[in-house]
Amino acid sequence: AKLNGRNNIQCFDASIQRQLSQRSEIENALKHALQQQEFRLFYQPQVDEQGRIFGVEALLRWQKTPDELIPPDLFIPVAEESGLITEIGLWVLKQACQQLVIWQRSSLTQDISISVNVSARQFLRSKFADEVLSVLSETGARADRLKLELTESAVLQDVEASKQKILQLKAAGLTFSLDDFGTGYSSLSYLKQLPVDQVKIDRSFVKDVTEDEGDSAIVQAILAMCNTLAIETIAEGVETQAQLEFLQQHDCCRFQGYLFGRPVPMNELMDRFFKV
Ligand code: C2E
Ligand code: CA
Ligand code: CA
Ligand code: CA
Repeated sequence: AKLNGRNNIQCFDASIQRQLSQRSEIENALKHALQQQEFRLFYQPQVDEQGRIFGVEALLRWQKTPDELIPPDLFIPVAEESGLITEIGLWVLKQACQQLVIWQRSSLTQDISISVNVSARQFLRSKFADEVLSVLSETGARADRLKLELTESAVLQDVEASKQKILQLKAAGLTFSLDDFGTGYSSLSYLKQLPVDQVKIDRSFVKDVTEDEGDSAIVQAILAMCNTLAIETIAEGVETQAQLEFLQQHDCCRFQGYLFGRPVPMNELMDRFFKV
């Protein structure tokens, strides 16, 4: 039994060792990816009741090799733990702002906004607001076309400090969306305190909204509450006409999901939505 125990410990050590080296391998690969410009932004349309595009969400991809496109769930966690997310996040912001500048030149696209995901670690840094403001002034992008998506976990760590940062950036014209809404806890009590413009209803509630009574009740409660607080809502993960109809019946009028379009490279988005 003793021997066995020892072996187990060795196995355990070996597996931790493997995980650690995998982690630092990914970390090194991410540093390399930043230097070699292997990151790309895809864009997913956001549409109104008439199905017209009014905005896009920028979603990060890692083009590791010409035929290896890695989704964010596989590398963002490592980027967050290693702190690389700060640099990656800054790259994303610059990229999105450069796109806004291109869009500002055409009457067809000048009103379209871009939503950018901001990770907790990135947002919590004291320099965050200043960094965003310098990217805006360096690129010349319009602040009122840039929306930042924050998660509950980011703002809840320090509600007062978050509030100050949000207010500082809102004063410059930016808008804020609370992402994955409803998946955390204590959402309702602090929403009132946070100066966010938009709440994004999480895909997990939208998914079964037409079949599951619980999900349907949660979505209705979120919509009713946001309407009362005069906070805009957008539903994510809308895939079916039935989901869309349910949401519309309950006064949600902004949507994002495969029903309207998947995240695609900018040229594809342009071809589909802004063809002249
Ligand atoms: P998220 O912010 O909740 O983004 C929405 C995710 O849902 C995206 O996955 C999108 O492709 C997917 N989605 C959109 N519509 C539908 C639908 O109708 N059905 C289904 N099944 N999925 C849909 P993606 O692009 O893989 O991104 C995953 C997560 O990675 C994002 O979740 C976000 O948390 C994170 N992420 C992406 N880009 C960035 C970034 O630039 N910075 C940071 N910090 N995180 C990012
Ligand atoms: Ca998001
Ligand atoms: Ca989300
Ligand atoms: Ca999500």
